[in-house]
Amino acid sequence: MAGHSSSQPPSVNLDTPVRFIPGVGPARGQVLEQSGISDVGALLLRRPRRYVAIPACRPIAEWSPGQTACIAGEIVRLRFARAGRVQAEIVDGQERCRITWFHSPYLRERLRSGQVLLAWGIIRAGESGAEMINPRFRTAESAEQLELPTTTSWQAVYARIDTLTGRAIYQIIRRGLALLPALADIWPANDQPAGEWMSLDEALRGVHQPQDDAHAEHCRRRLAYDELLMWQLSFAEARRRQQHSSAPPLPVSAEIDRRIRARFPFRLSPAQDRAVQEISADLAQSQPMLRLLQGDVGSGKTAVAVYAALVAIANRQQVVLLAPTEILARQHYQRISEYLRGSQVQLALFTGTLRTTEREPLQQQLVTGHLNLAVGTHALLEEVIRFQRLGLVIIDEQHRFGVAQREALKRKAPHAHYLVLSATPIPRTLAMIGLGDLDQSVIDELPAGRLPVISRLVTPAGAAAAWRAIVTELAAGRQAYIVFPLIEESEQSPLRAVTVEYERLRAGVLRNFSCGLLHGRLPTEERTATLEQFRSGALQVLVATTVVEVGVDVANATVMAVFHAERYGLAQLHQLRGRVGRGRHGGQFFMFVDKESTETAARLQIMLETTDGFRIAEADLAQRGPGDLLGTQQHGLPGLRFIDLARDRVLWEQARQQAQVLLEQIVHWPAEQRDRFRHWQKRYVDRRSDWLQIG
Ligand code: ADP
Ligand code: MG
Repeated sequence: MAGHSSSQPPSVNLDTPVRFIPGVGPARGQVLEQSGISDVGALLLRRPRRYVAIPACRPIAEWSPGQTACIAGEIVRLRFARAGRVQAEIVDGQERCRITWFHSPYLRERLRSGQVLLAWGIIRAGESGAEMINPRFRTAESAEQLELPTTTSWQAVYARIDTLTGRAIYQIIRRGLALLPALADIWPANDQPAGEWMSLDEALRGVHQPQDDAHAEHCRRRLAYDELLMWQLSFAEARRRQQHSSAPPLPVSAEIDRRIRARFPFRLSPAQDRAVQEISADLAQSQPMLRLLQGDVGSGKTAVAVYAALVAIANRQQVVLLAPTEILARQHYQRISEYLRGSQVQLALFTGTLRTTEREPLQQQLVTGHLNLAVGTHALLEEVIRFQRLGLVIIDEQHRFGVAQREALKRKAPHAHYLVLSATPIPRTLAMIGLGDLDQSVIDELPAGRLPVISRLVTPAGAAAAWRAIVTELAAGRQAYIVFPLIEESEQSPLRAVTVEYERLRAGVLRNFSCGLLHGRLPTEERTATLEQFRSGALQVLVATTVVEVGVDVANATVMAVFHAERYGLAQLHQLRGRVGRGRHGGQFFMFVDKESTETAARLQIMLETTDGFRIAEADLAQRGPGDLLGTQQHGLPGLRFIDLARDRVLWEQARQQAQVLLEQIVHWPAEQRDRFRHWQKRYVDRRSDWLQIG
């Protein structure tokens, strides 16, 4: 619908900030911007969740109660009651309908008697005739202006963004599209796929305002193709960059291999062996390795990483191992120090809490090449840190480093091999798209001799029994994690606050045990100290937020209780569960839920059935509505926009082939076309989650 205002609103383009769309303004603009939707282009790449059909408009008399009806008539009576309740009566010639909206004080400005109102929603038989409650609607001064729908139309439904309802987003997108001039296509005419191919302009408009369901899907597919192609082209370009850069070849002799293996107090598992062989083959090349090492928590990735590090060190290269938190860096350092006890390898730990007097000599030893292995946090990325010969970079949980940090790393190590560790199994389907043909090694079995973790779903009725089980374990000398989602009690959220719960538990059910509190807002020193006490056994219980999620490794901790488990994604629950059962005692994992709900039970069922991280990751992906649950940035993979993993297999293959063709063409495109391509590529390939930014 065109606006009523007499002054023509200025047109927008893809880069226009969202706050300049009429009706958005600074406040809503800020909400959108904080969610990463800063401009019109970003807004239009927001995929509708689904579509609803709006029927053709027919006289009130023709509808029966219970139907989704579309009616129009003159407003003959209007009443604004208390609490924002609005009542309107419309007449369409023969028939009347009474319409009620609740909690809608803003309608005072929009509705006037005498206007013509079009409304659609469920029609009911009230006491005094037809009724509608909270229908969607639009108004005009006359029936002609209203453009009554004569056929069924389809309307996009959007997920809410923070305080903005899906309906508000619909309105904003509609206004944005109305002001947006026709878009030029990304791909030159002769590089477009044959067959029923629609223009970018039609697809981007149609996905938000489709003619019907089939058209919406057709539009989505066109956009999914663009998205797939953008990723494929990025992979191809990254592969090319990799082929044109160099790294020192780091061969492994039988003697080196033997000496390295002798460092471990165990035999590498067959899966670790496979990974070691793949990595060794990469390291021997003069092209940089860019390999992802995936494996569940406790599968033994660190041992494999140490193997790689020792290969590099045997070849007189320095190695850096980066971890996203001080806790993790410290733990890696301790574990590696044990493996290397008695060897000549010089290693050091670099963290933000290191004093200058401690750091400066270590820094010096890095420059002279005296230090072989630097383990640490982003403190290692600071400008002052220089290496003599940095040959291998190992990054744990790479996606938790920011873009700037990864770039700093690349500057420090322009000719290094890269090994990225990930404890979050990445679903194969997603890996195909989000990782392209990045080299991967997967450790898909745990070292022999581990006892399984037993998982339970705990409803309020079962809470007492679960606590008894927890207390029994503690009394037997084991340790426990108790996990809560939030830090402070806030009014908006009924979630238990970790600090409040900590006090309650300490005075109550856990009063006989020593408890510590760990959350992200405590100072680093305090966090490190608390974790150290838990590790040493001085603390029996750690009440924590999900900061315990990644990598924390205490063999005697056999119990974990997660509260509000229904709020977490499966992948995150799996990650949390990986904290327990790392020793010889097995483990127990309790998922406390707020209320008995069959839906929650069904969703979490797979946690009770399997500990296979890949199966859980697939299920997680299938379940997850974007942004609905805590911890959606689990593996740092891109948020897919229009790609539908289940439906787009064939399309994906087409995009792969087309990418090879286009890669050769792009340099010959007119500058304008190339700029347009780069523009869209930047929009689709999100750099925060871009695995190609390393290496
Ligand atoms: P990840 O880094 O994948 O979480 P770690 O390398 O920390 O796993 O290993 C988890 C635990 O398993 C450590 O205590 C480690 O000593 C042990 N471990 C690793 N590999 C093996 C193996 N092949 N056999 C027995 N224990 C192993
Ligand atoms: Mg580890």
